[in-house]
Amino acid sequence: MIVRARMVVTMDGVPIPNGAVRVRGNRIVDVGKISELASANDEIIDLGEHVLLPGLINAHCHLDYTCLRGKIPRQKSFTNWVRVINAEKGILTAEDYVTSINAGFAEAQRFGTTTIANLTAFPELIAKMNPPIRTWWFAELIDVREPERANEIVESATDSLKRAENWGLAPHAPFTASENLSRDCQEIGLRENILLTTHLAESDEEMEMFRDASGPLYQFMEKIGREMTDCGYDTPLRRFLRRLGDASLAGWIIAHLNELSESDFDLLREIQHKFSIAHCPRSHAYFGHVPFQFERLQRLGFNVCLGTDSLASNDDLSLFAEMRAFQKEFPKVPAERILGMVTVNPARALRLENELGKIGRGFLADMIALPFTTSESLYQTILNFAAKVPWIMLHGKTVAIH
Ligand SMILES: [Zn+2]
Repeated sequence: MIVRARMVVTMDGVPIPNGAVRVRGNRIVDVGKISELASANDEIIDLGEHVLLPGLINAHCHLDYTCLRGKIPRQKSFTNWVRVINAEKGILTAEDYVTSINAGFAEAQRFGTTTIANLTAFPELIAKMNPPIRTWWFAELIDVREPERANEIVESATDSLKRAENWGLAPHAPFTASENLSRDCQEIGLRENILLTTHLAESDEEMEMFRDASGPLYQFMEKIGREMTDCGYDTPLRRFLRRLGDASLAGWIIAHLNELSESDFDLLREIQHKFSIAHCPRSHAYFGHVPFQFERLQRLGFNVCLGTDSLASNDDLSLFAEMRAFQKEFPKVPAERILGMVTVNPARALRLENELGKIGRGFLADMIALPFTTSESLYQTILNFAAKVPWIMLHGKTVAIH
């Protein structure tokens, strides 16, 4: 089967006008000009005045909280937000979460997302789910109220996760996951060759807690019974690196990294195995964090990807809107590079840079198409897209979109 479009953006070289992609089974087997690719017997799907591009990849989200859209007004403090979301979570049932996750999958797909790195606090629900898009399930693990159970928590989550095709572990954050729990995750990560993710250096209150042993997050965590002896010395990043060492951070996707001191940058420079970073522009704006240090992190060799975070701090699950928000923050970054942050870069973060994120020979046939006329600037048109994606192919099959 051949898919033809007015323009094909491969993310693997220059765009191809009147381009065509030959798909066999679930794979792309050839890419080029329609005039060179098609023969008389080919079945051709002609998308006409559209641009065909790789399906988008969301590097960080929590579909658990899709049902919390609009429920949490902006808080002055990150700690307050944690309090409010905890109260909201307290009234949700397992069934609510299943509904919420399914609604999230459907919404992400409508916005052209074909692969998602999803953190769930309820790995036991994975057995009930049938994701319509490629999904990496990360169990979000917290042992702050029961650090003696760290090992048990990791093991039970791992049992549930093994039902999923793609999975990983997510010690939630250094203030909610103990050192033991993080180390357990790191160990399993190495043994099973799986991905790991965590939230790190997200807010100024986290910085205050670890560096100064003070502030609202420090007080809140102390009150709920957290052992606070690791506070008062280090920045969150230094604490995290102390916990795990630099042995193999390459498999980590670190969410946020907003609060970084100059000495943190010295540390980052020295790290041998550069990890991936998930930046969530609209969630970042919602919390009013200090500016994200994109250029510096990128220059140091970190692989920066975009994510939506959850709808407890965002309006929807559109990566197009995320790209536009990023462009507002960093207007000098070319649109093509921004598109790379939801295609090529997250594919690399998921260690599938030879299978996802590009339209190229041997890649999985995950593609989307958007309306396009040649009078427009190509990559900017893609970023500006703000509707339901009209055509999606996943794993070589066209998807009926609802
Ligand atoms: Zn998150």
